[in-house]
Amino acid sequence: MGKLNEITVVGASLAGLRAVQALRREGFDGEITLVGAETHAPYNRPPLSKSLLRGDDDDVTLPGAEELGDQWLRGRQAVRLDIGGRTVTLDDGTRLGYDGLVIATGARPRRLDGVHTLRTLEDALALRAELASGHEHVLVIGGGFVGGEVASTARQLGRKVTLVDSAPYPMRAGLGEEAARWLAAHHERNGVELVTNVRVTEVRGHQVRLSDGRSISAGLVVGGMGVVPNTEWLDGSGLAVDDGVLCRPTLFARNTADIVAAGDVARWPHGLYDEAMVRIEHWSNANEQGAVAARNLLAGPEHAQPFLDVPNFATHVHGARIQTAGLPHMADEASIVAGSPEDDRFAVAFTRGGVLVGAVAVNSPKDLIKLKRAIAAREAV
Ligand SMILES: Cc1cc2nc3c(=O)[nH]c(=O)nc-3n(C[C@H](O)[C@H](O)[C@H](O)COP(=O)(O)OP(=O)(O)OC[C@H]3O[C@@H](n4cnc5c(N)ncnc54)[C@H](O)[C@@H]3O)c2cc1C
Repeated sequence: MGKLNEITVVGASLAGLRAVQALRREGFDGEITLVGAETHAPYNRPPLSKSLLRGDDDDVTLPGAEELGDQWLRGRQAVRLDIGGRTVTLDDGTRLGYDGLVIATGARPRRLDGVHTLRTLEDALALRAELASGHEHVLVIGGGFVGGEVASTARQLGRKVTLVDSAPYPMRAGLGEEAARWLAAHHERNGVELVTNVRVTEVRGHQVRLSDGRSISAGLVVGGMGVVPNTEWLDGSGLAVDDGVLCRPTLFARNTADIVAAGDVARWPHGLYDEAMVRIEHWSNANEQGAVAARNLLAGPEHAQPFLDVPNFATHVHGARIQTAGLPHMADEASIVAGSPEDDRFAVAFTRGGVLVGAVAVNSPKDLIKLKRAIAAREAV
């Protein structure tokens, strides 16, 4: 592929910003257009369920956002991609040509009528205002990391909290049995009422109906029911999409030589996991992939490098730091390798066929670092 002159980046959040920065760092001196549906400068989402929601922090702007200058179209949405004509059409009819395209449109929360969700700054400010308006009882649907953090923050603010989850223990799929059991007990010790093994069937006003026939009344209902990738604008483009943009190991969209994807929207075969297709919804993934995808776009498919980073993630719940590395859910065995749940400090190693594939650490950051290195090295345990 020849030298690129015009690169369009769609999605102006973490992955999109990191892509633009990497393009400039690599010496790309052509035109970059960054298109973002939101009107804010790119900002950090992790504080939205933590410090910003508590009211401790208002500035969540991502470092580096100031470098964007005027190459940035805010509050504008891409609605169509024409691969053959190499154009992106925006919601106001503008057509942007490109000779390289970065797709970084992220994901949005699953929604239920009458239920607050948390993805954007507006969502967080609205939820913060609701929490401040004195609702005594907060019901959280879904105990994943966003739901767990909202529950934790609401407890810190002195609210009564009920957390409803369809699994026997919140986050069991991502943390494994041992750490998920610990987390459930940790929630309960911190005053969260856990209602597990049930689904929400209906929300009517303040009344939440559950699959076991029970009904719970709460002033504020918040959902953390997972996310779906933002790919509708690619419908009809011919790009392969299935729970995200399907990519090659180098993050080039399948069957293309001029389109890469990065962040929550990208799904690619991970070289550390026998090329299993993965889509990772973590900050560090979007942070690294934005840059790698951009570098690969400049290098072209023949010289591009596979994205092999070990996924990693941290969440903070009632003062505890829970970290994961790799993909624990891919394991066929798990064992505690440091500390113990009774001491609220431990690490779990997850293996598949004897090879380390994942790790979870509770209040044990040093153990997590060691285990993460071992996962990258595909060490046997
Ligand atoms: C409340 C909350 C707390 C979190 N906490 C943590 C945490 O503690 N640790 C962790 O690892 N991760 C956390 N995450 C996840 C992390 O924030 C995401 O993985 C990260 O934001 C993904 O970045 P992204 O750039 O891929 O996508 P996004 O941040 O989703 O950004 C995509 C952007 O593209 C825009 N867009 C979408 N469609 C279009 C279109 N058609 N045209 C133009 N623009 C479009 C969107 O408006 C959005 O601005 C949290 C997320 C949330 C919501």
